[in-house]
Amino acid sequence: ASLFAAVEMAPRDPILGLNEQFNADPNPDKVNLGVGVYYDDNGKLPLLKCVTQAEKQLVEAAKPRGYLPIDGIAAYDKAVQGLVFGAESQAVQSGRVATVQALGGTGGLKIGADFLKKLTPQAKVLISDPSWENHRALFENAGFQVGTYPYYDAGRRGIDFDAMLAALRAAEPGTIVVLHACCHNPTGYDLTPAQWEQVIEAIGSRGLVPFLDMAYQGFGEGIAEDGAVIGQFLKAGLPMFVSTSFSKSFSLYGERVGALSVVCSSKEEADRVLSQLKRVIRTNYSNPPTHGAQVVAAVLTTPALRQTWEDELATMRVRIKQMRELLVQKLRAAGVTQDMSFITQQKGIFSYSGLTKEQMQRLRSEFGVYGVDSGRICVAALNTRNIDYVARAIAKVL
Ligand code: PMP
Repeated sequence: ASLFAAVEMAPRDPILGLNEQFNADPNPDKVNLGVGVYYDDNGKLPLLKCVTQAEKQLVEAAKPRGYLPIDGIAAYDKAVQGLVFGAESQAVQSGRVATVQALGGTGGLKIGADFLKKLTPQAKVLISDPSWENHRALFENAGFQVGTYPYYDAGRRGIDFDAMLAALRAAEPGTIVVLHACCHNPTGYDLTPAQWEQVIEAIGSRGLVPFLDMAYQGFGEGIAEDGAVIGQFLKAGLPMFVSTSFSKSFSLYGERVGALSVVCSSKEEADRVLSQLKRVIRTNYSNPPTHGAQVVAAVLTTPALRQTWEDELATMRVRIKQMRELLVQKLRAAGVTQDMSFITQQKGIFSYSGLTKEQMQRLRSEFGVYGVDSGRICVAALNTRNIDYVARAIAKVL
């Protein structure tokens, strides 16, 4: 028999399956709101000016392609630290943050998970209920038992904060808690700064390990506003893990640009942690690729390019907010009487629409409007041409 005779078919990725179904749909009005990417008002994936300008400079000063260091481009790692923690922060200034370049935000999570498994093999992991669908699989694959803490409350269209806090206060010391720094995927609901204070207090007093996933910095309220939670954690003096993704904020999905940062209590400790992160990388893929990180480092450290990026990011953020407001207006105009204004309170590219699985399936089969069965729609895939159709379709299934 073949070596592979007993290999079972792995379950299909639900979102990729949705894309295939969308592509095969002959409906000329079809709209794909199942994706997790930002499209511009023409329904296109943007290529940012700051990126093409940085690439032009890189081509003009083309260099041979040697191996990068295991932890990536030093200037890139430094720029990430500046963006995430603030270049002037005590943590960065004192050298107690260990940062490595990673293959997107997913790569940052994976390096952190593998390092943590060696450091605290018995620890459990808690993710939000619900969470980005890869969180569970990624930490389970690293060998952890993964549970959830309560988060979304469908009844109140928001976060069940008391239940979340109670779960953290009851977690075993040493438990790794995965938190969405901003623009929660899939619900769109974020904690307020005051709620973060209480979460930080619970994590600190209970001796939990915070792992912040920052995949959408700049898509909520702004770069500084979305990153403010990191400052709150720093102030509490807690050890923490932060994964960074530039997939969305630079529209560089396929270049796999991200990072992992670990905040330690001293430089000496950070040096030892860094040496172990490098071991994880070395035994997985040896060292990271050059292009995307070079582009992001150039943009973040060149004032004119940095300004262009911040403007382009603001354009994306403002467009998403406009689509949220427009959707609420159009739903009302289409005859929806229930209050849908919660859509404008959510942050980032996703919205939990409150629609049931049956309603989402009707949207798909009757109108060619594709969202996830959970009710998640990507508001960053709405535009001035498809929003009327989408609003009328939603009104018909509600
Ligand atoms: N975390 C969250 C919450 C995400 O939504 C995503 C991407 N959809 C990632 C991590 C992974 O980002 P990347 O594509 O950079 O690996």
